[in-house]
Amino acid sequence: MKRVLSISLLAATCLAVSFPSLAAGEKIGLLMSDLRLERWQKDRDLFTAEAEKLGARVYTQSANGDVSTQISQIENMISRGVDVLVIVPENGEVLSNVLAEAKAEGIKVLAYDRLIKFADIDLYVSFDNIRVGEMQAEALLKRKPMGRYFLMGGSPTDNNAKMFREGQMNVLQPAIDAEKIQVIGDQWAMGWSAEAALNIMENALTANANKVDAVVASNDSTAGGAIQALAAQGLSGKVIISGQDADLAAVRRIVQGSQTMTVYKPISKLAETSAEMAVKLARGEAIQADGYVNNGQKDVDAVLLTPIAVTKENLDETVIADGFHSKAAVYNP
Ligand code: BGC
Repeated sequence: MKRVLSISLLAATCLAVSFPSLAAGEKIGLLMSDLRLERWQKDRDLFTAEAEKLGARVYTQSANGDVSTQISQIENMISRGVDVLVIVPENGEVLSNVLAEAKAEGIKVLAYDRLIKFADIDLYVSFDNIRVGEMQAEALLKRKPMGRYFLMGGSPTDNNAKMFREGQMNVLQPAIDAEKIQVIGDQWAMGWSAEAALNIMENALTANANKVDAVVASNDSTAGGAIQALAAQGLSGKVIISGQDADLAAVRRIVQGSQTMTVYKPISKLAETSAEMAVKLARGEAIQADGYVNNGQKDVDAVLLTPIAVTKENLDETVIADGFHSKAAVYNP
């Protein structure tokens, strides 16, 4: 490791500008599904900073929510000769062929935050996503143990969206069976889009004559869309609603009262752990995994980090204490 770092330092100081091809370091292709959401920009910046600190070079591309764009970007990275692909899959079920090409070239693959299924990947680094879903449902059920619940799922092509729903149902099912709560609708917002969530919520409100007590939204962008629809009917703050990501807009909504909770996932841990692991994979060093996750093809080494439920009560000691957002940005927009 020392050797590579010193060469890259030399390259950075003396050679990088005139002879960039002589710069040392492992080559990492970072393939983002969609950089339009706030959280993913943080992921990119933190990952890149850490990987560069370790002496690697990071090439980033974003598919902006388009599956075929992502596949061509992966092909492009393979022909550039990267050592490792770090991928946030737009659709985790369609990369088998392109990743078989990567394998044939000896390129390692790390699934970042979202699992890649039916493919020979080397590592999966994420949060405990079932726990995320449980936290969302727990926070709502605690406030409204009885009532009419609407389920706002995320993108149907994102494996995480299914895990969040699984976690939500772990918590809701006993209350459904006991006839304490009633699920009045269950939909999935394409591409995690706020606009899709707005439309879904408008229709759900119309279909139920505005009789909704709680919305189990799977992240902050879909919560934002749903809250817009609730606000248009004078229901904002009355209907409790979950979220995820601790996006600045969502955290402000929590302070102001239109959103009940979010799930804060310390992105720095995910990004830094992934960067360290990616560099190790590139160097052929051993990986310290927590366990395995089966992806339909194999048991994949996995590192799963712990999410944190956030409400008005613990906002200061979590999101703000961590420097994820500043106090001023949250309280004095
Ligand atoms: C991530 C969430 C994010 C969502 C939409 C999921 O896979 O785990 O943090 O809100 O994608 O980008």
